Amino acid sequence: FERLKQSLVKTRNQLAEKIEGIIKFSAKIDEDTLEELEEVLISADIGVSASDKLLSQLREKVRAEKIRSPEELKEALKEEIIKVFPAEKLEIVPPTIILVVGVNGVGKTTTIGKLAYRFKTQGKKVILSAADTFRAAAAEQLSIWGQRAGVDVVKHQEGSDPAAVLFDAIQAGKARRADIIICDTAGRLHTKKNLMEELKKLYRVSEKEYPEAKIVSLLVLDATTGQNAIAQAKIFKEAVNISGIVLTKLDGTAKGGVAVAIASELNLPVFFIGVGEGMDDLEEFDPKAFADAIL
Ligand code: GDP
Repeated sequence: FERLKQSLVKTRNQLAEKIEGIIKFSAKIDEDTLEELEEVLISADIGVSASDKLLSQLREKVRAEKIRSPEELKEALKEEIIKVFPAEKLEIVPPTIILVVGVNGVGKTTTIGKLAYRFKTQGKKVILSAADTFRAAAAEQLSIWGQRAGVDVVKHQEGSDPAAVLFDAIQAGKARRADIIICDTAGRLHTKKNLMEELKKLYRVSEKEYPEAKIVSLLVLDATTGQNAIAQAKIFKEAVNISGIVLTKLDGTAKGGVAVAIASELNLPVFFIGVGEGMDDLEEFDPKAFADAIL
């Protein structure tokens, strides 16, 4: 928990300190206090729509539970924030294919390396599929992560068909009895239509070539992009069936509140958070620990 709290220290400064400021100077908890509170939530990247929902729940609670003290108000807000997150956990039932999608630069490759390391450490056999064949360096970068994590990487030449790479990774996965195949994908959003078609094709190949496998699609979002991350999530969610989110670069950003906005506006669970560039800087997301860390 200390690690999480350390990562979220700027978000906490943004939120907790301001909230304490408001509460301290309010003689009682009234509508003015709540309105000021809403502004603080919005400024901490929780977003207008999610802050609005939180506040109406909180208003109700203040009335019903006769909340008077600042401590009680803070606890009530924490409870409401925890409730925003869908309780779903990522369940890995071998064999599983994990399609990792997201815009370039959000930390997709790094996240795949961290996931590979995590699953390998848990005793699972992992194969990586370098299906971002568009960027010259992508497969190379994935290979480096594969080496670090000690897992095999299936790759083709630059410019080849991503679906063919995944096809080969699936055959390798079957032959080597892998528990998990993690597939990198391209992330060039400026050719949105092509990209979404490509992702759908990867999904179809997974279903067709490995009907026994469970298919999970993880959307990687960069917390430092704040509300932009929400816009990206909406685009991907329209095109592909997203199982959940990995929110990266939470270390050192003041925009950690965006996790609440994502869960609230998209109703998607946050499965993991990235808290650094290293192999074990990936943590399972725990809504309660998160709420305690930011408030
Ligand atoms: P991709 O283009 O989506 O595959 O992104 P990369 O995996 O190449 O990551 C882009 C940059 O973000 C790299 O410099 C990574 O080290 C960095 N990065 C990824 N995840 C995290 C994280 O959780 N925290 C921090 N601080 N940096 C990260």
